[in-house]
Amino acid sequence: MTDAMEFECDVVVIGAGMAGLTVASRLAKCGASVVVLEKSTEIGGTARGSGGYVWTLPDAQIMSRQAASGDPKLQDVIFEEFEALVDWMRALGTQVEGPHAVMSGRGYHVDIIGYLDRCHRAIVSNGGNILRNSRVQGLLTNAGGAVCGAVVVDDADEQVAIRASWIILATGGFTADPGLTEEFIGRRDVPMRVRASKNNVGDGLVLARSVGATTATSSGFYGHMVGTSIPLDDLETMRTYGLYHSDHALLLGRDGFRFVDESLGDHMSVQSDYFVTEGAAALVWDERINRDVVTKPWIQGSPGEDRFAIAREAGARTVKAANLDDLASGLDEWGFDGSRAAETVRKFNSDMESGGIPEPERRHHRSPLAEPPYYVIEVSPAITFPYGGLRVDEHSRVLDARGAPIGGLLAVGSDVGGIMGPDYTGGLCTAGSFAIRAARTVAAGS
Ligand SMILES: Cc1cc2nc3c(=O)[nH]c(=O)nc-3n(C[C@H](O)[C@H](O)[C@H](O)COP(=O)(O)OP(=O)(O)OC[C@H]3O[C@@H](n4cnc5c(N)ncnc54)[C@H](O)[C@@H]3O)c2cc1C
Repeated sequence: MTDAMEFECDVVVIGAGMAGLTVASRLAKCGASVVVLEKSTEIGGTARGSGGYVWTLPDAQIMSRQAASGDPKLQDVIFEEFEALVDWMRALGTQVEGPHAVMSGRGYHVDIIGYLDRCHRAIVSNGGNILRNSRVQGLLTNAGGAVCGAVVVDDADEQVAIRASWIILATGGFTADPGLTEEFIGRRDVPMRVRASKNNVGDGLVLARSVGATTATSSGFYGHMVGTSIPLDDLETMRTYGLYHSDHALLLGRDGFRFVDESLGDHMSVQSDYFVTEGAAALVWDERINRDVVTKPWIQGSPGEDRFAIAREAGARTVKAANLDDLASGLDEWGFDGSRAAETVRKFNSDMESGGIPEPERRHHRSPLAEPPYYVIEVSPAITFPYGGLRVDEHSRVLDARGAPIGGLLAVGSDVGGIMGPDYTGGLCTAGSFAIRAARTVAAGS
């Protein structure tokens, strides 16, 4: 450490994605001296490849029911800061449309790349720095145990000690780290695919643990189903592979049976225990669903796309079957129990026609799949971010094992755990709201 160059600033933000750029731009504009450390050569993180829907569930009551594993005090932060976040986006000149219905809530469609770039400009034009390609080696603490800086290796391989009153962790969670994924989400026979920036490997969590932080454990995660053989290397194209309409379809396991109430949403089905051991399932829908749902925009403002054709072209295993016997043969070839699968569809259809209750239950979209041809894609779950992560309070302060704030240390975005689960409260909105709250905490100096 004696050889390291040293300099000082007010705030160091680690991670230049949705949460990091939001808090850094806000603070820089308020006059704080800010340094943003980004591991990658590019800023924007997973947010850069997102759809730009800044939304959340309609109200606190619905949130506490649907995301009952989350801490209501943290969920309140989303509602308290949501409008301030949207105002901030507009204040920077970002194009914002809405509000309108998004998934099971309400929100705005934002030019997200424009927003991230505007944050970048706001940071730099107000005297802040964004250091790309930087590797944070550790946090500095003072005699009282408060965090007071970070040691970084910059892109010229120089070690630099940056002293600061505040360190804000915004590294996007541990999505792409198999060890942390196993610790929080559990061991899987088939590793889960990553639908996010591959840089998000839990660095914030590891840094915070090194100074005594505790975590909010949750085995839940946000993600979507994708065609099993589709490569997920490119953030730009990830969005087009989502099979968001799976709530209208049937999911069949290798044994040919249903295993989840698909109608609760694609983001809920991906968390099913079935995938822990089996890894893949067959998603089945008929011509009616294809015509009326799959090829239509799934959210106001999104493009209507032929998701079956996109998946097939990208390398997913697909079958277009003229009838249920052909569906059975196609699934047999994949090693599924095709006859049982066809029987499951027939039984589901007769339950829907007679008003019966299938097992598992089907709460919504209770129509038979009765209009051939049948469309089948082999799918597997892909994680965007975990629901577990650092335990923080409603000021975004990272907490230690006794529940006390660790001085000088805040966390935002997917580095924070204990907000969601089993339902999802919106990734951009949650990241942005906590970023706004963290900026207030810094401004208040508490
Ligand atoms: C295809 C797709 C579509 C999506 N669409 C939507 C949508 O429409 N609406 C919505 O609400 N959510 C959406 N999301 C989710 C949303 O993008 C995330 O919830 C959000 O980006 C999380 O913000 P974050 O700041 O926590 O992480 P990120 O945006 O991923 O930023 C984390 C940053 O930290 C950097 N980093 C990691 N480790 C380090 C380190 N050690 N040092 C320095 N930097 C580090 C990373 O490189 C990255 O730049 C989508 C996600 C995907 C994949």
